[in-house]
Amino acid sequence: MPHVPIPAISRQNQADLAERRWQDLLTVRPDLGPALDLQRRLLALVAGLASALENGRLPRLSLPQKYLAAKLARGVPALAGEPIPLPVPLLRPALVQLCEALAEGGAGEAATHIRDAIASGNIECGSLLTASLARNQTAIRTGASHRGLAPDLVWLVAELAVGPFVHALQRALFGHAGDELQQALDGWNRGYCPACGSWPALAEVVGGHRTLRCSFCSSAWELTTYACIYCEESGEKFVTAAPDEERKDRRLEVCSTCGGYLKTIDLPELSPFPLLSISDIETTDLDVAAMEHGYQRPALKEFGSRR
Ligand SMILES: [Zn+2]
Ligand SMILES: [Zn+2]
Repeated sequence: MPHVPIPAISRQNQADLAERRWQDLLTVRPDLGPALDLQRRLLALVAGLASALENGRLPRLSLPQKYLAAKLARGVPALAGEPIPLPVPLLRPALVQLCEALAEGGAGEAATHIRDAIASGNIECGSLLTASLARNQTAIRTGASHRGLAPDLVWLVAELAVGPFVHALQRALFGHAGDELQQALDGWNRGYCPACGSWPALAEVVGGHRTLRCSFCSSAWELTTYACIYCEESGEKFVTAAPDEERKDRRLEVCSTCGGYLKTIDLPELSPFPLLSISDIETTDLDVAAMEHGYQRPALKEFGSRR
């Protein structure tokens, strides 16, 4: 059952769940207070966008299931290379608000400059959002550098704004899969996301099921093999270890063949969108441990396929 559907929960239940997880985390990591305040504000904006999108702003895509199934069978994610119209008028004000939250939450002038560039039209919103949806890091980096803006922050702001849209698209495409598409989804045994092609933020392990969670669209999928998700190494160069002996529920998968790492945490249930970023912030110490040992997350994969 490689592709795992995640039931939607009400916005209130989602907010309650998020608050509980933040409080628990704050108890063990009081130093994360400011970071959690910022995350709280960012997630409120993202959740607001998600609920606006639920009220019927998704474009009608002409992506027949047979076509998608064939694409997946070739290892190409469903949305890769597809021209998809974005709801720019809805996302534009969100970009500005996300910049403001980031500016006040510690990113300072670097975020204010991005907000100004968006507000003045120096950054063309449609192009930025389209590049983010297409996972085009080169275009975003080059565009940011030309304007004297912080590339990582531009990438982040765009990703946060487009996230709810790509999550909704993913649910619309995969949520009503017929036999052929379902079979293709069930046969998906790759480390990158079947919807958007991003690498997972981490693996959430529920009841022993190691479920990869897309860092962009929050898709959830399970592999039939236990190996490095980046290069498929399954020999002794692929190691799973808990950096903290006391916390065996939080582990790192590291691979000395490709130098990649993946965080994995045991949880009572899979995080609904957009709470996956809480799992991510709960495990920042694992990122630090992996990077201290020279491991890193690889660059995004590129998919050249167009119709
Ligand atoms: Zn994805
Ligand atoms: Zn590897």
